[in-house]
Amino acid sequence: MFGGIEAGGTNFVCGVGNGPDDLIREEFPTRSPAETLKRAAAFFANHSVKSLGVGSFGPIDIASGTITNTPKTAWQHFPLVEELRRATGIANITFDTDVNAAALGEGRWGAGVGLTDFLYLTVGTGIGGGAVVNGHLLHGRSHPEMGHIPMRHDLLRDSFAGACYAHGDCLEGLASGFAIEQRWGRPGALLPADHMGWKLEAEYLADALATFTYAFSPAKIIVGGGVMHTLSHASLSERLRRLLNGYVEAPQVVPPALGEDAGLLGAIALAMSNEAASPA
Ligand code: ZN
Repeated sequence: MFGGIEAGGTNFVCGVGNGPDDLIREEFPTRSPAETLKRAAAFFANHSVKSLGVGSFGPIDIASGTITNTPKTAWQHFPLVEELRRATGIANITFDTDVNAAALGEGRWGAGVGLTDFLYLTVGTGIGGGAVVNGHLLHGRSHPEMGHIPMRHDLLRDSFAGACYAHGDCLEGLASGFAIEQRWGRPGALLPADHMGWKLEAEYLADALATFTYAFSPAKIIVGGGVMHTLSHASLSERLRRLLNGYVEAPQVVPPALGEDAGLLGAIALAMSNEAASPA
C-alpha cells in the first residue's frame, strides 16, 4: 500500500491505499509542527506503507523538502520531509505542492485521465495551480505559483486594493475566497448568486485562464475549490472562449472528478510516481 499526506494550512489529511476505491483516511487540524507530525506518525504506525507522498501548502522548496515563506510562522522554513522521515520511519518520501499532487491524482484517476496536457487550479481561500505538460508535472526551479500572476485591474470598476499580503491585487489578491470575503464583508457562500461580485469573479478567473492557456497550452483546465461551488464551469468556459477569440483552441473547463479526496489521492499518486522529486 501507498501512503499520502495532504498537508494543508488548515487540516492535515493522512491516508493509505491504492486508489479511489481503496482508501483509508484520517483528518485533523494543522497545529504546531511537533503536534501535527505526532498525529501523522500515530496514523502511519498503524498502517505499513512502502512509500509516502506529501502534497503540501506552500510555498515550498521541493529539492530540500522544506516549507519556505508561509505566513504561518510556526511552519516557516520547516524541513517537513526530514522531520516526517524522523517521525514516521518512512524513508521513501516524495514531496510536491498540494496542487501539483492534485493534478497528478486527477491525471491518474480523475478528469485528466488520458491527457498529456492539462492544468489543475484550485480557487479556495487561496489560489494555486499545477500543470501537466507533455505528460509530466511542471516544476521549473521549484514550482509554479499561478495564483500570484499580475492582473489587469480597473480601479474605477473595482476599487478593492487586493488581499494578497505580498502583492495586493494579484490573481489570489483579487479572486480568492479570502479576497471575496475582504471585499464584500462576508464569505462567498453568503453572497447571492446574482451579486455583482460573481460577475467580477468570473471575469478575473477567465482572464487568468486565458493567460494560463497561452502559457501552457492545455487541452483541459480542471478548476476546483470552494469558490467554484457558486460559479458555473460552463459560463467560465464560455467567457474564456470569447477572450481567446479563436486565436488558439479553447481548453475545456471542468470540475475535478475526485471531489473531496483529490488532495489525498494526489498525494498517494505522488507516492506511486517515480517522476516526482524526492528530496535528499
Ligand atoms: Zn500574490
